Amino acid sequence: MNIVKRTIDGIYNLLKGMKVTIRYFFKPAITLQYPKERWTMPERSRGMVGLLSDPETGKLNCTACLICMRNCPVRAIQITQTKDEAGKRVPDEFVIEAGLCIYCGICEESCPFNAIKMIPKYEFSTYDKKQLTHKKERLAEIGKGHKYTKWS
Ligand code: SF4
Ligand code: SF4
Repeated sequence: MNIVKRTIDGIYNLLKGMKVTIRYFFKPAITLQYPKERWTMPERSRGMVGLLSDPETGKLNCTACLICMRNCPVRAIQITQTKDEAGKRVPDEFVIEAGLCIYCGICEESCPFNAIKMIPKYEFSTYDKKQLTHKKERLAEIGKGHKYTKWS
């Protein structure tokens, strides 16, 4: 009797599985063939942290006020200050340790100059830990072409 019940259960579960297979068999595949195909991330997604610049002059918006550095909960940001030819305070060094960053977005939220942003880019895995130290030039490259958006 036990073997009859187990056989019926087995057939039932097999048909149940087949039903799911048949249901999805005729639907288009949703799997992306990465890296040939890439997912377009939503603008609000918290990807890499980048620095924003003025699209006309190409100069960074950052005034080296250090607010983001002080607010970063894991101390992933290191900034040193200098002055430009007009005597304006600008960042000399601006480094973000992407390996330390927890992608909380506090730096973006606390920046009063719309100078730093979570950019919807996610491809920065590497075998070399040093590559996770994102310096000013790299951060500017990450943020290039992106604008600050005030989210409500
Ligand atoms: S996202 Fe958060 S952890 Fe990362 S640099 Fe900004 S404040 Fe620091
Ligand atoms: S990114 Fe913003 S908060 Fe950070 S130092 Fe520059 S201006 Fe200040």
